[in-house]
Amino acid sequence: MKRFILLGAPGSGKGTQAKVLAERTGISHLSTGDILRAEVSGGTDLGKEAKEYMEAGKLVPDQLILDMVKVKLATPELEAGFILDGFPRTVPQAEGLEKIASELNLGIDRVININVQDEEIVKRLTARRTCPQCGAIYNLVFNPPATENKCDKDGSELTQRADDSEGTIRSRLQVYHEQTQPLEDFYRARSLLVDIPGSGSVDDIAGRIQAEVGA
Ligand code: AMP
Repeated sequence: MKRFILLGAPGSGKGTQAKVLAERTGISHLSTGDILRAEVSGGTDLGKEAKEYMEAGKLVPDQLILDMVKVKLATPELEAGFILDGFPRTVPQAEGLEKIASELNLGIDRVININVQDEEIVKRLTARRTCPQCGAIYNLVFNPPATENKCDKDGSELTQRADDSEGTIRSRLQVYHEQTQPLEDFYRARSLLVDIPGSGSVDDIAGRIQAEVGA
């Protein structure tokens, strides 16, 4: 298996797990959130359009996302496989992905759905910090850096994402339940969905995922 979707609420650990899986298997990691954040900091037209949705914890319009993903999926580096993280997030995006995947002959092998309760997510996200340099993700409670507020990999000062304040987290969870959770049924109906408990250490969860995908 080499083409996966990681599904789960914001803060379920899907970004962390996508990175672990990508490092262990060599399969490319494609995070629409990371791509959008790079577009915002680069001040591109797409970044300018996406910024206000992101800061409000709302979803960027489907067509913008689908156009962006289509370009990425057509790049040769992804021929060996990909882990989609943060996409699709709505039923129209999942339908759009099916169309792109059939045009490019890239069938999805499995959809990993990481399950975590909302209150646990709020606790996790308010303590999340990221490295602006290399993208490494830490948690001040569950996975702190060795030196306070410094990235273990490159020593950069860690930052908090603008959308990780409690109010924005609650709106993102609401958006998730309304718009993204219906994808569970969408992929269950296609016999692609596997539920993974999202509690435990990063390694425990990575082990569960690897056992499912045979990586
Ligand atoms: P993430 O890093 O996946 O939590 O994404 C951060 C923000 O980027 C989200 O709250 C959305 O505003 C936007 N975003 C990322 N991926 C998508 C997507 N597939 N569809 C719509 N908006 C997205």
